[in-house]
Amino acid sequence: MTCLPAHTEKKLGLVIDLDTCVGCQACVTACKEWNTGGHMAPLTDIDPYGGHVDGVWFNRVHTYEHMTEMGGRTVNFPRSCLHCEQPACVTVCPTGASYKRASDGIVLVDEDKCIGCKLCSWACPYGAREFDTDVGVMKKCTLCVDRIYNDNLAEEDRVPACVAACPTSARHFGDLGDPASAISQLVEARGGVELMPELGYKPTNRYLPPRARTERAARVDAPALEPIRAEGGFLGWIDRMLSN
Ligand code: SF4
Ligand code: SF4
Repeated sequence: MTCLPAHTEKKLGLVIDLDTCVGCQACVTACKEWNTGGHMAPLTDIDPYGGHVDGVWFNRVHTYEHMTEMGGRTVNFPRSCLHCEQPACVTVCPTGASYKRASDGIVLVDEDKCIGCKLCSWACPYGAREFDTDVGVMKKCTLCVDRIYNDNLAEEDRVPACVAACPTSARHFGDLGDPASAISQLVEARGGVELMPELGYKPTNRYLPPRARTERAARVDAPALEPIRAEGGFLGWIDRMLSN
């Protein structure tokens, strides 16, 4: 049994916008790339080019088809540790390897204390724990502790790798314990939600729900493109070349 801090000074976490995530996996690969060479290295790959690909990924994106009155809609759902306020993954740990930091609320694993019993992965309802079979220890998202406090990086780069990589700015990082922070105000403005609050883990991360499609947006066809082959100039030349 491992104790939790009575309170944390900050609640650092992520806000993920399900309206603008396009499921490109940039956050997934940026996470793997940064952590493979950084704080949690190495992150094992098993049969990476074969038929039974497996390994350690701290961030995974799942894609669902959701039916609405306007028709089908694709929802991309990135999933990683939510740095819960009441994480049973920590309290269940028999060695103190899993812990929650009082300073910023980040949940981490001390590999030197981990005995690989996997109790934490059973306790996490979000599937956010990743067991590394090569080294026999549990690993997970660190919220890029080796980036966000890294004085060697430019200030704008001191965000988790997934946030820096997202091409649609669907990922946001900050202190969700400060109601005045930009990230808290974003949650307020967009009605951000906790994932499975009924479980009582009090996840720090929030998800911004997809905005409803308007009837107009659902029905307006894309405008027909005018042929430009007959045009002169550079565009006409490119169009003729590509059409050959
Ligand atoms: S999401 Fe899972 S691994 Fe992360 S703090 Fe919550 S219970 Fe623990
Ligand atoms: S990088 Fe951004 S848009 Fe791409 S899958 Fe991740 S959250 Fe979604």
